[in-house]
Amino acid sequence: MITLNNIHKSYNIGQPNQLHVLKGINLHIDDGELVAIMGASGSGKSTLLNILGILDNYDSGEYLLDDQLIRSQSETQAARLRNQLIGFVFQSFNLLNFKTALENVALPLYYKGVGRKERNRLAMQQLERMGLADWSDHLPSEMSGGQKQRVAIARAIIAKPKILLADEPTGALDSKTTVDVMNIFKQLNQEGITTIIVTHEQSVADMTNRTIRIKDGLIVE
Ligand code: ADP
Ligand code: MG
Repeated sequence: MITLNNIHKSYNIGQPNQLHVLKGINLHIDDGELVAIMGASGSGKSTLLNILGILDNYDSGEYLLDDQLIRSQSETQAARLRNQLIGFVFQSFNLLNFKTALENVALPLYYKGVGRKERNRLAMQQLERMGLADWSDHLPSEMSGGQKQRVAIARAIIAKPKILLADEPTGALDSKTTVDVMNIFKQLNQEGITTIIVTHEQSVADMTNRTIRIKDGLIVE
């Protein structure tokens, strides 16, 4: 599903300075895996996840996603691949605050050109499976962290992605809610979605099937 060969990534932090963050990442993730990516703060976890999610470019190396070489895409091409293949979940939920839970969940289908009625029907289905049917008309500001993250997960999977990428999805949650959210990821993974979770919590990594560690810009294992 995912292969990275010798991926390098630097950030420009004011000429002539370059911050070399990824220093030759080699990684293979099979279809259907549930993996955690761990590493110290600043080690490049989000940088790596953003490259995997085609949210950012890499400088050199090779990234194959679903047998396609991901390289120098236009933003339009990148957006199309993201919409087809990838769902995202973030620590800070990234919900639209002026839209209801239902509208947030339905949004990816709007970008796919699905009609309003069908969008809302499918979004309601997702909210139901997250146990949030009664919250469909509520705004994110009226919901708890765990509820918001379940709305975000419903939104991430509504367009049936092959891959779910989560960047510290439990970072803002208490330990009980963390377990609830991880159980949702496990369930989705068992239904076939390749799932990659960045975390700095060992208890979260322990709920996945493989832990990839990143240190000084390289995978250590
Ligand atoms: P992590 O997610 O593991 O905490 P990041 O991938 O966010 O690490 O960051 C890795 C390093 O790159 C850090 O030193 C961070 O400050 C730096 N960095 C991240 N994004 C940028 C950016 N857009 N511009 C410059 N430096 C960045
Ligand atoms: Mg990060």
